[in-house]
Amino acid sequence: MTTETRDIVVVGGGTAGCFAAASAAQDGLDVVLLERKTEKEAGHIACGDAIKGTSTFPDVIDRQYLRDESFTNQNIQRAHFINPKGANYDIPFEGESGSVIDRKRYGEVLLEEADRAGADLQYNTVVQDVTQNGRVTGVTATRKGNHLEYEADVVIDAAGALSLLQDKVDFNGTLYDTNVDYSQFCSAYREVIETEQPVDYDDAIVFKPTEELGYLWYFPRTDREINAGLGFQMDQPPLPLVDVLKNDLENQPEFRNAEVKDKLGAALPTRRPYDSAVAPGFMSVGDAAAHVNPTTGGGIPGAAKAGHWAAEIAGEAIADGDLSESALWEYNQRIQTDFGKRFAAMDLYNIFGTAHEVDELTDVVTALPGEMLIDLMGKEGETTLGAVDKLKTGLRTAIETRGHWKTLYEGYQVSNLASELKSIYDEYPSTPSGFEAWQAKRDELMDEVYELTGAEPKY
Ligand SMILES: Cc1cc2nc3c(=O)[nH]c(=O)nc-3n(C[C@H](O)[C@H](O)[C@H](O)COP(=O)(O)OP(=O)(O)OC[C@H]3O[C@@H](n4cnc5c(N)ncnc54)[C@H](O)[C@@H]3O)c2cc1C
Repeated sequence: MTTETRDIVVVGGGTAGCFAAASAAQDGLDVVLLERKTEKEAGHIACGDAIKGTSTFPDVIDRQYLRDESFTNQNIQRAHFINPKGANYDIPFEGESGSVIDRKRYGEVLLEEADRAGADLQYNTVVQDVTQNGRVTGVTATRKGNHLEYEADVVIDAAGALSLLQDKVDFNGTLYDTNVDYSQFCSAYREVIETEQPVDYDDAIVFKPTEELGYLWYFPRTDREINAGLGFQMDQPPLPLVDVLKNDLENQPEFRNAEVKDKLGAALPTRRPYDSAVAPGFMSVGDAAAHVNPTTGGGIPGAAKAGHWAAEIAGEAIADGDLSESALWEYNQRIQTDFGKRFAAMDLYNIFGTAHEVDELTDVVTALPGEMLIDLMGKEGETTLGAVDKLKTGLRTAIETRGHWKTLYEGYQVSNLASELKSIYDEYPSTPSGFEAWQAKRDELMDEVYELTGAEPKY
């Protein structure tokens, strides 16, 4: 048995882990990244491969190199929604265009960049447990049958959705969010498919509703290589993902005689970010702390930022010789007042959705003029226009939406609550001492959401 002693141990070599390791190494810390996959397999991760630009990526990697190597389609201008009951509609991208990536190459470049920054990358290393004595002091792992021990000031948990490490840490006496349940996750599956002919939607990410509040997607990596996939919320009856996708593709002319190049499935969090993702000597980042937009499943930008911030705050705590929950707390505040508030607000629409039948929601969507729908959906977790005023004045809308007014008005009220929720997240406390009062205020608002929508409490 060998024991290594480092400043930081990062568990997991996905987006969050690579950004954490690269950031820590660049700050001069001694950091090891442990990845269970082989070097050849690392970076191969189930994903829809769509990203809205790289401008929000922390500047600790060579972003241009990443783009040149792995951004195979940089011309996504719109999201196209297929409405099985009426007119399809487009939501144009404002500002920067979106991209679809070669996910394996993207993952490899991130690992290369962490290595280049000076992190020690160890593959084939499966972390099995944590060591702890009032704080997390390291991890134990196996590689090719050998037992390994790593001691560290801080362990960064970047092991993805339903991270094993969280089952091992003793969180008693900490504020770490343990209110986590499988029903707050989505099970998703995707195939990468090469078509015979170019598709005509290579400037769009395409969505289609499925049963059980899910979406099926076609994301064009190129005009002939399509990432097609789907998912279902785990609080709903399971969908046979592979068969549903197969049936759908068989009915799409562009996929006739197409070749499936790759298949992969995984769970992803579709819940609000963890209220607190730190404990003494321990921080969770990316999917391991639900840093994912719960309505779109987009988790890459959140994982990148979280990894970077965790490394920064861990570095400061190590320099101060204080590895307590309080010393790491600033990480929580950064997350919650940045993308955390937006994701928590978007989560209210998921909760609203679970209280309605898919058919009913599709009927509402079908009845609304496309422009109004875009306004109502908002892009920041709240409505962008006075939707009710519009409803009052739009005679055509009023006639067409007859029978759905209650649902529409409820949606409008949810959107107001989403705005309020964002303000509460702006007040996320800067120390653990204000946490319980903050949480009580947030939970009061959540009670209003459950009462309004009739949805089962999600948390
Ligand atoms: C089907 C699907 C489609 C998606 N589509 C999109 C999309 O289009 N756009 C988008 O932005 N996001 C998408 N996401 C979400 C996105 O993939 C994740 O949010 C993102 O990959 C999270 O990065 P991460 O580093 O936190 O975790 P991961 O990428 O999951 O990385 C975790 C790493 O930890 C390793 N690991 C796990 N356990 C251990 C252990 N015990 N020991 C050592 N190593 C371990 C794993 O092997 C893995 O390499 C999708 C997710 C799924 C499942």
